[in-house]
Amino acid sequence: MTGHTPHIVVIGGGVIGCAIAWHLAKRDARVTLVEQKDPAAGSSGACDGLVFMQSKKPGIHLTLAMKSLELFGALSGRLPFDIEFRQTGGLVVIETDAEYRAMEKYVTAQQDIGLPVHLLDRNQTLEREPALSKNIAGAAWSPVDAQVNPINLTLGFAAGARQNHARILTHTEVLGFRHQGNRVTAVETSQGTVEADIVVNCAGAAAGMVSKRMGMHHPVTPRRGQIAVTHATAPLLTHCLISAKYVAAKFDPALAQTAGQGISVEQTDNGNLLLGSTREFAGFDTANTIEGIRSIIRQTAAVLPAVKSMDIIRTFAGLRPYTPDGLPLLGPVREYSNVFMAAGHEGDGIALSPVTGLLMSELILDGKTQLSLNPFSPDRFNTVTGGDHA
Ligand SMILES: Cc1cc2nc3c(=O)[nH]c(=O)nc-3n(C[C@H](O)[C@H](O)[C@H](O)COP(=O)(O)OP(=O)(O)OC[C@H]3O[C@@H](n4cnc5c(N)ncnc54)[C@H](O)[C@@H]3O)c2cc1C
Repeated sequence: MTGHTPHIVVIGGGVIGCAIAWHLAKRDARVTLVEQKDPAAGSSGACDGLVFMQSKKPGIHLTLAMKSLELFGALSGRLPFDIEFRQTGGLVVIETDAEYRAMEKYVTAQQDIGLPVHLLDRNQTLEREPALSKNIAGAAWSPVDAQVNPINLTLGFAAGARQNHARILTHTEVLGFRHQGNRVTAVETSQGTVEADIVVNCAGAAAGMVSKRMGMHHPVTPRRGQIAVTHATAPLLTHCLISAKYVAAKFDPALAQTAGQGISVEQTDNGNLLLGSTREFAGFDTANTIEGIRSIIRQTAAVLPAVKSMDIIRTFAGLRPYTPDGLPLLGPVREYSNVFMAAGHEGDGIALSPVTGLLMSELILDGKTQLSLNPFSPDRFNTVTGGDHA
């Protein structure tokens, strides 16, 4: 590679691939992003836009998210799209006394990491958010939780990458790889062969399948989330909301089956409420189901009664890239010397995209990162090699 600028091929035009492409291109790297449909065609275009710190596991997950939040502030003016980043503050609504006691521990652990978060009783919560049901037990409140328009964010990263001379190939599916020894040398696509010095797998819920085409096993699988959108209303909420059950369901699939999946609610700049969302293992099926949408509306109405008289104008579903430990896979792989993973952000990819883009670009271009990526090593799972690479 001496004497020429390495050509970096990023697979997947979701928020993660586009964020990485933008960061790399800004530093004059030679980048081609390969997307089978269009940017934001995957989960990044079928999700909420919560940049919610309180839903991150206290520990490295929350530390990573707090770094990302810091970067969001500066991002707004630097992308060619209005990403509608609003630091509204967030509430984790607590419905029962038992949940309240469980949240006390969770909030203390978050405070220990430096997150500004406080438990509120029922009256304090209703003072902040009068539209909530009088039956709630309270809430955890953080002034730093925020929201963003996830589609504008993804398209903004993509347009910013293009402005910095990245090539973006749309409607181009990655079908296979060529390799020599422990190096991938080219990516085979539906539009021909793309030579590569470095490959980054950002294929979202399909990242496990793309890894398989290189003969690797990475346990990233789709976890469906359904969302219902109401008609636009006058401002009803000042904060973005999730419920304590939602946090529990995120990290514990078994609990999600028995205790319900909880809710998330955000009001967009246009006034629509996004009501979410289910957490289901349904393969790559992005259909909505009557049961899924009914369950979201029933659970939301119990917390936010105004929803009972609202019209649902549309529904959609996206596929979260799920990993068994709830953390993304970020870093080099042991099977190849020039392949990196950046996938598996589950329900946090929008929130974590700025920091993922920054740290992955540092890793690829400088060989080191300002925050250690070791806990996110793709090799932390018991991977087996020997798949169907060409
Ligand atoms: C209902 C729901 C609500 C959510 N709410 C939030 C939230 O509030 N906050 C938050 O932070 N996160 C949220 N998420 C999670 C977030 O959407 C994801 O973590 C994030 O979008 C993942 O981004 P990605 O780039 O990894 O994947 P994707 O956006 O899915 O992008 C992957 C891309 O790879 C492409 N691709 C796949 N295979 C190939 C191939 N072989 N060749 C070429 N291209 C390929 C796909 O077409 C796709 O465009 C939510 C998700 C859902 C489903």
